[in-house]
Amino acid sequence: TSGRAEARTLAGPPAAAELLARAAALAATLPVTPSIAFIRVGDDPASESYVRGKAKKAVELGLHSHVYALPDDTTQADLHALIGTLNADNGVHGVLLQLPLPAHLNADAALACLDPRKDVDGLHPVSAGLLWQGQPGLRPCTPAGVMALLDHYRLPVAGQHAVIVGRSALVGRPLAGLLLNADATVTVAHRATPDLGTVTRRADLLIVAAGHAHLITPDMVRPGATVIDVGINRVPTEGGKARLTGDVHPDVAGVAGALTPVPGGVGPMTVAQLMMNTVQAAQNQTAQVQATQNQTGQNQVGQP
Ligand code: ADP
Repeated sequence: TSGRAEARTLAGPPAAAELLARAAALAATLPVTPSIAFIRVGDDPASESYVRGKAKKAVELGLHSHVYALPDDTTQADLHALIGTLNADNGVHGVLLQLPLPAHLNADAALACLDPRKDVDGLHPVSAGLLWQGQPGLRPCTPAGVMALLDHYRLPVAGQHAVIVGRSALVGRPLAGLLLNADATVTVAHRATPDLGTVTRRADLLIVAAGHAHLITPDMVRPGATVIDVGINRVPTEGGKARLTGDVHPDVAGVAGALTPVPGGVGPMTVAQLMMNTVQAAQNQTAQVQATQNQTGQNQVGQP
């Protein structure tokens, strides 16, 4: 591949800034300030730092944000009770349950308790079903953020062969639905896929979310393909610190047409999409309140 130009770098921050500006513009049209509640259980440092980052971004955007940090010995019933309270609170438009939960808690059961209208992480079974039916709904933040990144860089999706590596409920599966809805031809590869390179080399658009550092090497990529690296792996450095690296080997830049960096690629899109989801949830809920008020004839300004 010597002499080939390096892949175009698909930097996350400008695309995230565009998405945040769209979220702020939509928020400005609403009669309420969108509000998000974060629930975090235990003291996992990564979860703590993710929630801190998301809450900070919400405040920067002018949204209301509240963090519920629950102790490690929280019971399933305690967790469901808090979710129930937030579901019933009309002042809260979005509820985000930060995963992973401590091992004694059942995340699927907790997610299923959420009011789907407040499911800003898009992980409730109703949200997943709406996505697969191609109906409007709240979409998981990382896959939707990938779509927003492709859109920002005007990369084609319709008619493209998209290959996704990874089938998690968080990334791979919902991304397959989003790409199908956007008229791509979609292949999903995973741990049990034999000869991964044969599959990935067919991709016009290769999206990797396997949680496996440098899984994708240059020989696995079709020259000129667009490669989106969703992986965030912590690898130890000689200094004893951790460095972040993706699922895609850096040498892929010599083969791909376009490539997202790690860090600074998909990462910022996830947080920006969460803000957009929160604003959209607030919009849907206020539209519903107004529809109800109009039906019952309450609070209609200018009506005798
Ligand atoms: P994430 O949350 O980033 O989606 P998960 O650990 O939940 O990551 O899921 C990893 C996904 O990647 C799984 O669907 C798994 O099958 C896939 N995967 C992991 N390792 C490989 C591999 N070596 N080849 C292909 N797919 C893999």
